[in-house]
Amino acid sequence: MPQNTLSLTPMRLILLGTTGYHPNDRRHTPCMLLPECGAMLDAGTAVYRAGEYLTLPELDIFLTHAHLDHVIGLTYMFSVMHAHPLKRVTVHGLPDKLAAVKEHLFSDALFPTKPPFEFRPLEDSFALAGGGRLTHFPLEHHGGSIGLRLDWPGHSMAYITDTSASPTAPYVAKIRGVDLLVHECYFGDDQAEWARKVAHSHTTPVAQVARAAGVKRLVLVHLNPLSVADDPIGIDTARAIFANTELGEDRMELEF
Ligand SMILES: [Zn+2]
Ligand SMILES: [Zn+2]
Repeated sequence: MPQNTLSLTPMRLILLGTTGYHPNDRRHTPCMLLPECGAMLDAGTAVYRAGEYLTLPELDIFLTHAHLDHVIGLTYMFSVMHAHPLKRVTVHGLPDKLAAVKEHLFSDALFPTKPPFEFRPLEDSFALAGGGRLTHFPLEHHGGSIGLRLDWPGHSMAYITDTSASPTAPYVAKIRGVDLLVHECYFGDDQAEWARKVAHSHTTPVAQVARAAGVKRLVLVHLNPLSVADDPIGIDTARAIFANTELGEDRMELEF
């Protein structure tokens, strides 16, 4: 496909799970899918929905870190592959995180079946379908997390989760100018102190990050599972700082 045609076709990101820690009656834990390029970002409880959306025979799963809310869905892959048979599934992450998943999540005592995929250490720059690249960079979090940036000719996005947002954090330079920023916003500003303590984000600094990085659009995920309200984090506060802000919902399809 010529490059100029490709840049005119929007990319599609499906938010399968938009809360963190544990599912609630409205949201599942983190998992996002780019069906047209066979890429999944994080593998939380929403993984079981992926079979409905997959189009390609191969799937690459990229893990930001190994906390349970981001990896437990790896054990649901048999259901996904029943709905949509896959020839190959590869799980990518930092080596210490992959080792933890293999040793603990797939220990004989917890899940006594060999998973239907291979693990591979995440490359510095991974080639995505459609001429794209996926790159990563460190985020401050308990045990560490990584931010992901995906670039195609004419389209770009970044996924930042499990960190305390700050417009002066080093990761802001890595996400500069993306078309779509999907950023965690676990808490509202009323829980700012708690957000810092648990290495998560609250509303105002997330919007400040979007503004400082000059992104085009901000979508908030990893919302507090203790709330099923329409607006758990104070969206107007975010929009006063960065107007093009939306709350993520499970099964929301975003084009960029
Ligand atoms: Zn999390
Ligand atoms: Zn975490």
